[in-house]
Order: sequence, then structure tokens, then C-alpha cells
Amino acid sequence: MSQSRQTISVQEAKRPFFVGIDLGGTSIKVGLVDDAGRTLRFLSVPTLVDRGAEDGAKRMGEAARQVIADAGLMLADVGRVGLGTPGTMDLAAGMLLQPVNLPSWKDFPIRDRVAHHAGLPLTYANDAGAAAYGEFWIGSGRGMHSMVILTLGTGVGGGIIIGDLSVDGEHGHGAECGHIIIDSHDDARLCGCGHRGHLEAYASATGVIKRTREALDAGGKSSLIARLAEGAELTPLLVGEQAEAGDAFSLEIVLETARYLGIGVVSLMHTIDPDGVVLGGAMTFGGADAPLGRRFLERVREEVRRRAMPVPAQKTSIEFAQLGGDAGYIGAAGLARIEFRRLQAAG
Ligand SMILES: [Zn+2]
Repeated sequence: MSQSRQTISVQEAKRPFFVGIDLGGTSIKVGLVDDAGRTLRFLSVPTLVDRGAEDGAKRMGEAARQVIADAGLMLADVGRVGLGTPGTMDLAAGMLLQPVNLPSWKDFPIRDRVAHHAGLPLTYANDAGAAAYGEFWIGSGRGMHSMVILTLGTGVGGGIIIGDLSVDGEHGHGAECGHIIIDSHDDARLCGCGHRGHLEAYASATGVIKRTREALDAGGKSSLIARLAEGAELTPLLVGEQAEAGDAFSLEIVLETARYLGIGVVSLMHTIDPDGVVLGGAMTFGGADAPLGRRFLERVREEVRRRAMPVPAQKTSIEFAQLGGDAGYIGAAGLARIEFRRLQAAG
């Protein structure tokens, strides 16, 4: 869902500038962004986890300097750098603790080391929170005051933003929207977190695969059976392909996933009453560009209209995310911008 990235020139851009860095397990995305969230320069470099955290911090700092130099700018033109990383982390201390995808990078003072190598002050954030802020700033949440985002992938990630503030919680467990309970039965589906009945157990890629497997084992008739016999791997992508090709069984799996999501979305709406709910991540069945994606979204909305109180049911927008894989670095830059402005206002 990575649309071709639009970049603008320095002449078109609005100062000051910010650098956003999105650290992932395989690649690091680095972008130079203007005061309106538009990208001037972008770089993706391999993470090279095995070289260790200090080497990674050094290359992140160098990449930040490079996007600035490539645009013909100086460090002094840049207000601040924003860095989003996976957890676990201690945001206040600027420490990576035990990142799952970066096993050898534990207990590392990443905020200060990247800031040192970049030669700029740095704002440190959770990668999911940064991506949520990116969508809020210039994506599907543009113009909203409050937004909830659900990221549909292997798990179901969440982000809640209210008036420019990301809800992280008092113990770093705020906005865990994938783990709201949608089934209270003792035999409800087991979630990746070890508890039962959570939204993620039903509406994540993992949940979709499990539900499909069970329905096939129960004797379901589907074109999936032939595809799996040919050696295809059972994935939401394959289920989506078969649904698009007219397989009623696969379509039912997709729409049932949307129904579960709708149930979770209603609980979030009744808790927060946001301007909008945004659905992002890899598992959106083609998103707004595909007939199946649009049908999926419409099924979520239908479930919301059926179950939500009348005013939020009518007023809350429910849309797909727009920024794809760019949301993380753009949002990290946006969070840096917020801190830059706050510090400026404080003198
Ligand atoms: Zn859970």
C-alpha cells in the first residue's frame, strides 16, 4: 500500500524542517519533512541488527545528516529529529529495553546515542504511536481533533490521539486496542498475549488464518482447498484473492473479520468518542483501491451502525489509513515538531 512517495523541493517547503526515523527489524526509514509534514528527501537503509545497537545508532545519525545535506540544507535548518522504535522501551529515560525484533540491542540508551551521531536534539517515541501520529497529522486523521487507529497485521496494534497528545498510559500500556475483550466465554479464542477473547485473536492475520483453518477442517467447501493442495501458503492475502475470485467461503471469512472489528470499534467509540477511526496495516484486503477492501470497510461500518449509540454511529468517520509504511517516519518527525514548538513556547 506504499503509494509512490511525493516529495517537494526546499523552495516549496515550509520551515522549520524535521527528520523522522522509523526503526524496524529489517530496515530503517529516514525522511526529511517540512513544517506541514511533506517529505523533501527519503532514505531507507538496512537495520543490520547483528552489528549491534551502537553501529545502528551511528548509521541512523549519518542517514539523518545525509537527507539534510541532500536537500542542500544545514543542521541549523532542522528543528529536531524524531525517532520511533519498537518496544519494550523506557520513553522517559530514552532507553530501548528488550526489543523483540532487535534482540541484541537491549538496554541501550538509543535516544542520546542517535542524537549524538545526528548532531541534533531528538524526540523518542514508540513506533506504533509515531505511525498513529503520522496518520493523524497528514493522513486520514488530518483535520481531526481525536482519532483511534487500528493497525491490522500479525497482531492488532492500536493508537489513540486526542488533541495532539498520544495516549500512552501511565504504565506504557495505553491504546492497546487489539486487546480489548470482544468475547467473555471461557473457551473464547486465545490471543497472542496469552489471554482469551481479545479482538486481536479474531481480527489479526493470525486470527484470520486460524479461523479459516478451523472452518476448512469443519468441512467448508472452498477454492482455497485446491490452492493449498498446490502448496500455496494460507495467508489473509490468499483468502482475499479467493474471495475476489468469487469464493463464497473466503468472502465470508473476510466479512466476518470485519464484523469482529466493528464490535471492537464500537467499544472504542463508546470509550473515547473520537472524530474518526482509521484502519491501517498490511491486512486491509486491498484497501480503498480494491472492491474487496471497500466491501470489508463497509461491513465494519455496518456493524458499527448496528451496535453504536445513534450520535457516534452517525458522526464518527471510519476510513482506511493513507500513508502506508511512511506513517512511522512522518509521525516521528511530527512528534519532534510538537516538542520543538513546546520548547520554543517555553522559551
Ligand atoms: Zn490480547
